Amino acid sequence: MQRSKTPEPAACLGCGVCLQRCPVLDLDALAARQAVRDLDAGLASPVLHDCIACRACSLVCPQGRDPSERIIGRWQQLILERGLPARAGLFMVSRFPNFRSRLLPALPADERRLVATWSRPPSEGAREILYPGCNWLTSPYLAASSLLDGLPIHGALELCCGATLSRSGLKGDASRQARRVHMHLASLEITRLWVPCAACLHALCTELPDKLPFPVEHLSTRLLDQIDAGRIRTRNLGMEVALQISCNDHLLGPAHMERVRELLARLGLRVREIQEPCCGIGAGFSPLSGYHPIDILRTSLRTLRQARQTGADALVVLCAGCLQTLSVASLLMPSSPELYHLFELVQLAAGERPLRRHIGRARLWWCCIAPHLLRPGRIFPEGGP
Ligand code: SF4
Ligand code: SF4
Repeated sequence: MQRSKTPEPAACLGCGVCLQRCPVLDLDALAARQAVRDLDAGLASPVLHDCIACRACSLVCPQGRDPSERIIGRWQQLILERGLPARAGLFMVSRFPNFRSRLLPALPADERRLVATWSRPPSEGAREILYPGCNWLTSPYLAASSLLDGLPIHGALELCCGATLSRSGLKGDASRQARRVHMHLASLEITRLWVPCAACLHALCTELPDKLPFPVEHLSTRLLDQIDAGRIRTRNLGMEVALQISCNDHLLGPAHMERVRELLARLGLRVREIQEPCCGIGAGFSPLSGYHPIDILRTSLRTLRQARQTGADALVVLCAGCLQTLSVASLLMPSSPELYHLFELVQLAAGERPLRRHIGRARLWWCCIAPHLLRPGRIFPEGGP
């Protein structure tokens, strides 16, 4: 995926199409126009709590604007004025300790070894590498596969793409993180960077201060090409699966989703797409939520319920972050369908046995992270009083 030249956006018409077509807010035309006016006038609006910053509205604005910035800009202002609940600091991936750095030391030894290997610079001569992003760094078991042979993995928590920072209104941290990541990645002598996560792909292609000197592509494209070239031989899995398309996968556009659907078809999967675009974490992005566990769990459980209602054999997610968030919630809903990351299904179809540690990871999450969610007080990450 490459940065595309976007035409200069035209003036906002106040038409409300953005909020009316929002997959989360459920507003009619009148309410949507009123919400746009309220947001512009700096007034209170339920949208400020309920928006998950998925940016779907930016895909429908007839004026080519990014209406989510209207909300995220208000969030930034709120963070300056009121700060955030202290627990939100756990999710600030540019600062340490955060929830991922708390989780890493508790991982099984084989996974800690993998993470240590990934932090080393790629060996000289490595032309194409995989950037694991933070989500694979806390689920390194996903990468224990011969399907990634010959593709060195390089990344560390310090090199998080920072997508959640910009989406939650933490603009200062987001731009510092983008500069840090850009400086590091641009210094690598590689010809292509593969990423397994749509959030990373979007952030690396649109939020870094400059374009990277090599193409950045989604891992699903490589897997599909390898299957079509006969380098990965797959069998028909013959399963019916519910598919949760993450907000970031939606954002990458129809061509990306077309490739994902082709990949699922190659594996012999019959797909029922569910409408809920959020694994749950987006429900915590608003500073009015500040990663409140109830907001996150309520959304995650809605997604799991939708998947269960399809009657499918399993729920497939495209993002390891979604896998983690939904796994955490699935411990509260034992009847939820079995969860798979897309990569695990490719492994299965290729005759491998994926390690499938996400339930153990979810238990670890509850032990290592949940107690910190009760932290009292407020923090002021963007300055302020
Ligand atoms: S941002 Fe776009 S879609 Fe939203 S009110 Fe303005 S013109 Fe309409
Ligand atoms: S960013 Fe997503 S949740 Fe927020 S208003 Fe736009 S479409 Fe709705």
